[in-house]
Amino acid sequence: MFLEFDRVTLRFSGLIALKDVSLSVDEGGVFAIIGPNGAGKSTMLNCISRIYTPQQGAIRFMGEDLLKVPPDRIKAHGIGRSFQNMELFAKMTVEDNLLVGGHCALHTNPFSEALGWFKARASEREARNRVQHVLESLGIATYSKHIAGSLPYGIQKKVDVGRALMGAPRLLLLDEPAAGLNDSETEELGNWICTVKQAMNTTVVMIEHDMSLVMSISDRIAVLDFGELIAVGTPGEIRQDDRVIRAYLGK
Ligand code: ADP
Ligand code: MG
Repeated sequence: MFLEFDRVTLRFSGLIALKDVSLSVDEGGVFAIIGPNGAGKSTMLNCISRIYTPQQGAIRFMGEDLLKVPPDRIKAHGIGRSFQNMELFAKMTVEDNLLVGGHCALHTNPFSEALGWFKARASEREARNRVQHVLESLGIATYSKHIAGSLPYGIQKKVDVGRALMGAPRLLLLDEPAAGLNDSETEELGNWICTVKQAMNTTVVMIEHDMSLVMSISDRIAVLDFGELIAVGTPGEIRQDDRVIRAYLGK
């Protein structure tokens, strides 16, 4: 199994943010997590990226016990994420934002420090090539030398995802990528998530409130409500699920 939650429970003092959540995500698709505010969606991503550690249960990624992986090794394990509130380096160029984002993943060789100037130049060239490849796949290569903070919001969002892609993740986590985008930007986002998923050979787990986006690009959808998984299925199944309609879609 590619990614698996096995009876995961996470409490914040008195509050149960995730209650006995079990689900599995297949490789290669788009898996969406939906649910009302406070349902525990970001907490799920934060468990995968090891920001939070559940008190009970297991999370497995490509056969490995993810809870044994320290947070600073997550990127090296093939997991990249974007954040709900982007934290770009506003005064740096787009290219430099990606170089900083990719730093850990591109310097995994413990001997690289000792290999001298030529190696350093080679790895810098490799990193710049990677930046170019990522920017091209996002359709924003022309902004490479632009100052990130000066760009339209929709482009900055792509830069943020670009940073997550620098480490060539097998699993890309997106927390509300369409937040703040207008309808046409959201539609475009859906297109490039699918394109990037193919081009980068990655699996996407995405939290999203925009139901037209979720329904159009997801292979499977999980619905959380008050920390409980109330349904998992295809878009067609989720649309017709009475419990989902009551808890979320119908409101
Ligand atoms: P969602 O992303 O679905 O809106 P979250 O996963 O962010 O919801 O939060 C789930 C619940 O856990 C909420 O009640 C939230 O207030 C609580 N929560 C999240 N993070 C923390 C934290 N670090 N400390 C205490 N409570 C938290
Ligand atoms: Mg959230």
